[in-house]
Amino acid sequence: MPRQPQARRAATAAPPEQLEPERPGVLAVGDDTAVRADAADLEVRRDLASAIPEPDDDTPLARELAADARLRITLRGRRLPRPQSPRVMCVANQKGGVGKTTTAVNLAAALAQSGLTVLLIDVDPQGNASTALGIDHHSDVLGTYDVLTDACPIGETLQECPDVPGLWCCPATIDLAGAEIELVGMEHRESQLQQAVLELQRDREQQGLPRFDYVLIDCPPSLGLITINAMMAAREVLIPIQCEYYALEGVSQLLRSIELVRERFNPALHVSTMVLTMYDGRTRLAAQVADEVRRHFPQQVLEQTIPRSVRVSEAPSHGQTVMTYDAGSSGALAYLASAREIAERPAARAR
Ligand code: ADP
Ligand code: MG
Repeated sequence: MPRQPQARRAATAAPPEQLEPERPGVLAVGDDTAVRADAADLEVRRDLASAIPEPDDDTPLARELAADARLRITLRGRRLPRPQSPRVMCVANQKGGVGKTTTAVNLAAALAQSGLTVLLIDVDPQGNASTALGIDHHSDVLGTYDVLTDACPIGETLQECPDVPGLWCCPATIDLAGAEIELVGMEHRESQLQQAVLELQRDREQQGLPRFDYVLIDCPPSLGLITINAMMAAREVLIPIQCEYYALEGVSQLLRSIELVRERFNPALHVSTMVLTMYDGRTRLAAQVADEVRRHFPQQVLEQTIPRSVRVSEAPSHGQTVMTYDAGSSGALAYLASAREIAERPAARAR
């Protein structure tokens, strides 16, 4: 039975008036002056980046360092364009350990650091995304469980990431583990999250607050009712693929599930983005896997790969994303570049 949230509200709920007002400097679609200024800024950055000499093929480490330096110059501190309408992306792959949570939290942080207003909804009972964002998610905190079981509106569960202004989180508590079973008996069991997100965006508009430009949903490694709720709430699916043997194992099953949800409930749902994670440039296997995935999904796979990096895996134990834990590291730069690809090339990826 859904618990009464009233008693716990005071401790955790962010009243709407405390939500951050629109931040200046974000590029809005159609804002010509801002777009021109951004183009000039980009030009200067490109000139600087191209001045870095290209090391020869015999020195892979020097090549990596040069590539990182170029990314640092072109990307850090850059504003990304605000999408014409909010984008809701469900980060899914029923294989565990492929980088779903890591990708969801770091992309969310990268987008927010680039001036956008971002919400991450943690729908994995393990709550790893909440931990990585430094968000309190002990069992007394309001979270996705309360939203899915209709106990409270999602707006009352939101907490802002302490290190990244503009990034908000609806946390997952351990109660969420029971939600699959509770949902079965509910009337609108597949569309609870969808309704919650729609209401949230509408409420914010009515209160004069900016809508969330991006809503990222971090899914559990399963295809149950919680994941279906995430796929109903989203328009886009982002699939992280780990660059190792059997990378595509299970993806066809995931695609079938997406197709089912699309046919039955959500005609707009499509796989817009695939991210190659834990890429180890020193192995032939990683390159072969990347080629194979790109051959199957040429439109969806981002050009930027995410390198395997100790800094990326260390960050969550400090309650941080790598975007703040080590902003200049290769992992952080790769997520920043991925965020830019996602923000700047939406049209090419939509069906
Ligand atoms: P999932 O959410 O799909 O289960 P995670 O994002 O939790 O996967 O990642 C699984 C493990 O791999 C975690 O320990 C994480 O820190 C690690 N990991 C993910 N991406 C990277 C990376 N780019 N470099 C190094 N370790 C990574
Ligand atoms: Mg996860």
